[in-house]
Amino acid sequence: MSIDANLKQVLSRTDCAPQQVTILGATGSIGVSTLDVIARHPDRFSVFALTGYRQIERLAEQCVQFKPAYAVVGDEASAQKLTELLNQASCATTVLFGAEAAEHVASIPEVDVVMAAIVGAAGLRPTLAAARAGKRILLANKESLVMSGALFMAEVERHGATLLPIDSEHNAVFQSLPAGCNQQLQKHGVKRILLTASGGPFRTSPVSSLASVTPEQACAHPNWVMGRKISVDSATMMNKGLEVIEAHWLFDASADEISVVIHPQSVIHSMVEYLDGSVIAQLGNPDMRTPIAHALSYPERIEAGVKSLDLTALSGLHFEQPDLDRFPCLALAFHALRQGGTAPAILNAANEVAVDAFLDRRLSFTGIHHLIAEVLSRVATTDADSLDTVFAADHAARECATQILTQRSAA
Ligand code: NAD
Ligand code: MG
Repeated sequence: MSIDANLKQVLSRTDCAPQQVTILGATGSIGVSTLDVIARHPDRFSVFALTGYRQIERLAEQCVQFKPAYAVVGDEASAQKLTELLNQASCATTVLFGAEAAEHVASIPEVDVVMAAIVGAAGLRPTLAAARAGKRILLANKESLVMSGALFMAEVERHGATLLPIDSEHNAVFQSLPAGCNQQLQKHGVKRILLTASGGPFRTSPVSSLASVTPEQACAHPNWVMGRKISVDSATMMNKGLEVIEAHWLFDASADEISVVIHPQSVIHSMVEYLDGSVIAQLGNPDMRTPIAHALSYPERIEAGVKSLDLTALSGLHFEQPDLDRFPCLALAFHALRQGGTAPAILNAANEVAVDAFLDRRLSFTGIHHLIAEVLSRVATTDADSLDTVFAADHAARECATQILTQRSAA
């Protein structure tokens, strides 16, 4: 069942007990913003489980504050450390570790809502587990849809899960579509989806200076505070490329029905254009608590702690075409979407390896798009007809990218 087909199911909830929420990736930027919204509404939401990977102290603090039944970490050593911290604080949260434990807390019957906010391909399995358990999924982890959109959407449909977009652009599109329409857009008079993009920190830098930009410069986004991987993706505009693919699956829109427009102020979060010429937009301050609160309470509205948008304080709203010479990653993503099959999974995996290498100072900023293009040309694309094929493509792309990097550093 796709996003709005679930409206009736959501509206028919009659129990007033707080909704039990699992947050996958609680220690990250989206996870922290989600807890901020939840803390404002203890009558509506209760935290059932939190997962984190590296920031164990932060996870311990979150457990002490929100008292979840479970906390899940990556490995045994982290689990021991977290257990000690929780014992010192007399916190009764049960600590688990490993990928299967994350799937467990995403699918356990007690849970109503799963915030999917792990970064990268690591988010796919637990998010899929939530879909198979028919949960209400708040999807921040765009990489899940990029890797396996057809399979993921089929599982959502088959198991009657509810999928609500957290990415600010997709949440804006969802809010700008007529209620009940997120598939078969043409039948509903939709001409195209307009995804806005800030253009990131290098929108106006000389293209010749991009080869030498540092991770610190790439992570200094002008409008949004985000995790490091998505910050680099925003600087290369691969983030927008991944979002084009995400929009394709969420809204059943073809590549030709999705346009990208640069809008440096990040006030309009995206738009929908209709056949009659109307363009409906969603506006707001750039604060992820808006889409998070929207999806948590949908179809109701709740307070999110977000400042009112002061239109009179804006110097203007500007728009421009993306420059594909400056942002070749955007063109690569459109190409992978049109190619279909496992091409988006290959693109995503190559990007993850490239961004890691850039953050580690093993690859230049412009090396990111060169590496992705090379991996796309070397790894054969197949049908993405099973999870095994998708993970095989992901694995092959990572190996290929790593091999290219190793050969280059040895040369
Ligand atoms: P982040 O780096 O701040 O946090 C990532 C979270 O994932 C952390 O809790 C981390 O512990 C966990 N994690 C990392 N690697 C893991 C692994 N191998 N196994 C299990 N857990 C792991 O990232 P973020 O900015 O919060 O982004 C999270 C997701 O939301 C990404 O997919 C991103 O594209 C998407 N998103 C983020 C924003 C934003 O404003 N931050 C906006 C839109 C979409
Ligand atoms: Mg976004």
